[in-house]
Amino acid sequence: MADKSYNHAKIEKKWQNKWEADQLYRSIIDESRPKFYALTMLPYPSGDLHIGHWYAMTPSDARARFMRMKGYNVLFPMGFDAFGLPAENAAIKRGIHPKNWTYRNIDRMREQLKSMGAMFDWEREAISSDPEYYHWSQWFFTQLYKHGMAYRKMSPVDWCPNCNTTLAREQVWGEDRHCERCGTPVIKKDLDQWFFTTTKYADELLNFSHVDWPERVKTLQTNWIGRSEGASVIFKTVPPSPLGRGDGGEGHDIEIFTTRPDTLWGATFMVFSPEHPLVDVITAPDKKAEVEAYKEQAARQSDIEREATDKEKTGVFTGGYAINPVNNERIPIWIADYVLMSYGTGAIMAVPAHDERDFEFARKFELPIVPVIQAEGAEEANGENMEAAYIGPGQMINSGPFNGTPVNDEKGHKNPSISAVIDWLEEKGIGKGSVNYRLRDWLISRQRYWGAPIPMIYCTQHGWNPVPDDQLPVMLPEDVEWKPTGESPLKLHPTWKNTTCPVCGEPATRETDTMDTFMCSSWYHLRYLSPHYDKGPFDEAEYNYWMPVDIYTGGIEHATMHLIYTRFFHKALRDMGVTEGPEPMTQLRNQGMVLGEDHEKMSKSRGNVIAPDELVRMYGADTVRAYLMFFARWDMGGPWNSHGIEGSVRWVRRVWALFTDPVEKKPSGSAETLKVLRRKVHQTLKAVTRDFEQFEFNTIISSLMELMNEMYRAREAGAVGSDEWAEAQNIYLRMMAPVTPHIAEELWTEHLGKPYSIHQQPWPQVDETAAREDSIEIPVQVNGKLRDKVVVPADAGEEEIKSAALATAGAQRYMEGKPPRKIIVVPKKLVNIVV
Ligand SMILES: [Zn+2]
Ligand SMILES: [Zn+2]
Repeated sequence: MADKSYNHAKIEKKWQNKWEADQLYRSIIDESRPKFYALTMLPYPSGDLHIGHWYAMTPSDARARFMRMKGYNVLFPMGFDAFGLPAENAAIKRGIHPKNWTYRNIDRMREQLKSMGAMFDWEREAISSDPEYYHWSQWFFTQLYKHGMAYRKMSPVDWCPNCNTTLAREQVWGEDRHCERCGTPVIKKDLDQWFFTTTKYADELLNFSHVDWPERVKTLQTNWIGRSEGASVIFKTVPPSPLGRGDGGEGHDIEIFTTRPDTLWGATFMVFSPEHPLVDVITAPDKKAEVEAYKEQAARQSDIEREATDKEKTGVFTGGYAINPVNNERIPIWIADYVLMSYGTGAIMAVPAHDERDFEFARKFELPIVPVIQAEGAEEANGENMEAAYIGPGQMINSGPFNGTPVNDEKGHKNPSISAVIDWLEEKGIGKGSVNYRLRDWLISRQRYWGAPIPMIYCTQHGWNPVPDDQLPVMLPEDVEWKPTGESPLKLHPTWKNTTCPVCGEPATRETDTMDTFMCSSWYHLRYLSPHYDKGPFDEAEYNYWMPVDIYTGGIEHATMHLIYTRFFHKALRDMGVTEGPEPMTQLRNQGMVLGEDHEKMSKSRGNVIAPDELVRMYGADTVRAYLMFFARWDMGGPWNSHGIEGSVRWVRRVWALFTDPVEKKPSGSAETLKVLRRKVHQTLKAVTRDFEQFEFNTIISSLMELMNEMYRAREAGAVGSDEWAEAQNIYLRMMAPVTPHIAEELWTEHLGKPYSIHQQPWPQVDETAAREDSIEIPVQVNGKLRDKVVVPADAGEEEIKSAALATAGAQRYMEGKPPRKIIVVPKKLVNIVV
């Protein structure tokens, strides 16, 4: 016998168990149905599922359920991005092995995830720290290496000189960039590390024609890749003083990249990044101390701080000079932290007259300013009294053979001045047209324990070679000292690193660094396809059926790194014949953020964290899901409101009451009552269908609330027992099912006695005729001001609407007896009478 009171705890547990026992959400290849791969970003096993996870996942689940009801064979998997630093930190702090900490958290979070009542197919769960998973992360590494897409080079890392260890980005804290453990200011140190050639794909990554992704993400990626056209030009060093001191500073090539080769004649000094390798060579003996001190302070700042435009410019003169190749002028070389080694070549020509940063720098250090572009109609440019850099169009001046060449606002060859100068540089052999990217190759090496070991072997005879396929996975040993010691923990293991060279069989050493965890998460959507498959990273049949991902949902914070890496990964694999198609994820949508009740970002220290487990205990998962879909636009997010959730609590209870209260089953409602009910049902269905398609979740809930009110009215008016009432109930529960899966199932099977499961029912069809309004209300304007409203038949023609509008009291009064000059009818929207 069905229970009359709404006991969410009982209902939710009951259905979760039954769905699991029946494998209701098992997704199996079915060629007879169209597939739909819905992917939501997998969590890191921090140990606690927070409200942000619920906000990302439950609306994504509702939409996946909607697609399933629409007839798609939907795959909606879940897993854990389980390698990474927090596990090591927790282990250090609490003395638990990172593996135990991670897997204990996964067990807990899996239970929390199950409490959502989502349609995750747990048979497809993938955990990136499982050997059966990282086996293939390692295999991908060796494949990339074999295809020339992985290489080794020296690169700086953040280093704590006190702890004597490299630090991950997250371990460098505060504006002064200190070590999270001991507070010592962090410095940069060069280490030999592995990279992937992401930059090879820079141009292809800028092409978004195959994806339906938010504009914001596309813009962030475009800026991150930072393609710019210009020229590379060779300057040469000269000794620091006319007397020369035999310091060898003469004749070194300095390659620079500039987007404005047409301003070369205005380059009055050069600025090197403090890390530029030539700095030590060109620095004059009397400048050494000052240069060294500056280098040290620059090394302690982050790139973001160094590039900040509002920052006071600093720098020091090296005592060295270069020759500007276009006019043979001898110009001084400075170092400044705003020039990064990681952008371009680490050296720039400074054109203070036409670059704001260079202008500020020149004014501060009293360096010459020579204008080389004259603005149209402006007074003759003069470096002495310029108040700001001029970056507009005009014509070239002070530029030898190019004087008078027009300059427009275009970039690259589209600008006649740039185009002419590039041709000339190439002819003279001092430069060439080139393209520069902000995007760097992907640094893979981490000097960490809790990650996938990089499967490379070093032999003194044969250098680096990949671990042969039949020796994969390279298992991560459990008996290590993972505490901070200043080295990669695997290096300190007594035996692990000893192996044999795959070429000669002689003793050799393993790479002791582990992989960036972004490598593991670049292909997890592929591992879900066949998480236990052992003949390859995935089963091809599964790939051919399910890929690409049809909808990917997750946070905007992943716009650049993860979402660029995963696109790169797909394209690189495609070129190796492993994957197919241009992109891994066709459509992307981002949710906003749930803030605390104080409108601030939730954090333990602020004490404004909302714990979903507690809410589920109090109200049930269905209500939490409904509120998360209702309280804000999903893509915007907003502050949590603990009073607000009462609205969802009330809605769920009133729906329960509507379906379970005993009412006599003899219809007495008028034909009009039934017609109005049916119209509302189909109008709601139409709106809800559209909103699901467009990720407009908040209006889905408000539409369902309105329809419920209409059903209460119809019940009062005697609709119960009619066909219209039965249809309303039927459609209502099916619309509700994706949002509140448990209560919908309970009411469907136990109270309406319909066949289990509601989640296997088709999405209802809109009856357009029933949904049509009999009459509609249209605003009436006179000269663009709202003066009245008019009710007309929904299918009224233009003439009918015009005469009805003219007859309104508001129109009569404000037309003041004048004849209408023009009447504009916007069908179904408004009438504007112009007098
Ligand atoms: Zn330290
Ligand atoms: Zn060898």
